[in-house]
Amino acid sequence: HKIIVTIDGFSSCGKSTLAKQLARELNYVFIDSGAMYRAITLYFLRNHVNHEKSAEVKKALHNIELWFEFNERSGRSDIYLNGENVEALIRDLLVSEHVSAIAAVKEVREFAVDQQQKMGEKKGIVMDGRDIGTTVFPDAELKIFMTADPAVRVERRFKELFERNPDITLDEVRINLEMRDYMDSNREISPLRKADDALVLDNSNLTMEEQLKVAHKWVKE
Ligand code: C5P
Repeated sequence: HKIIVTIDGFSSCGKSTLAKQLARELNYVFIDSGAMYRAITLYFLRNHVNHEKSAEVKKALHNIELWFEFNERSGRSDIYLNGENVEALIRDLLVSEHVSAIAAVKEVREFAVDQQQKMGEKKGIVMDGRDIGTTVFPDAELKIFMTADPAVRVERRFKELFERNPDITLDEVRINLEMRDYMDSNREISPLRKADDALVLDNSNLTMEEQLKVAHKWVKE
């Protein structure tokens, strides 16, 4: 039978990479919950929505439609914001700099969590994020909490961003990761933390194959 697998952890621990591979092998749907918060952030930035004003936030959310569509080329789903594929745009450092503040807003979380829970109704999904095992699917059959050495994480995210923006510096990336980890762990509503029943996977020194082997073993158990 199909189950729900949740993968939570700090920024750039390799959650999405593992989630994507695992979903492919299990023939499950992979959902990157962070992409939803990023797409909402992109909309807020473009439309100058003040996230501290509840009425503005509510009106904006009312005008946002998000969905995922499978992309044959990348082998994962791209996120669409009101019909526009924003998968590449949401990875910008500018979005990364604002996303944690916007993701801390009550209405924003309710909007996203509600949709995430609907996507899990049929099971057979691997979802990665910060609060998936604690808030979105507290009854998930397998919860993974990923960790990795901070230096490894900065290096990893830097390489990703550098491909599209050669002006970016290692320091900028490090500061952004530290800031998001701090904000994500200290916000009032469903802060990032390990679910009591989550299994810890430290991938600082593990290859993708080794990580998949561990995850598969856990799925079978
Ligand atoms: O996963 P990713 O790094 O793309 O997530 C971007 C941001 O979205 C996180 O730093 C966090 O502020 C927010 N987020 C969240 N809850 C999730 C997933 C992401 O608050 N489940």
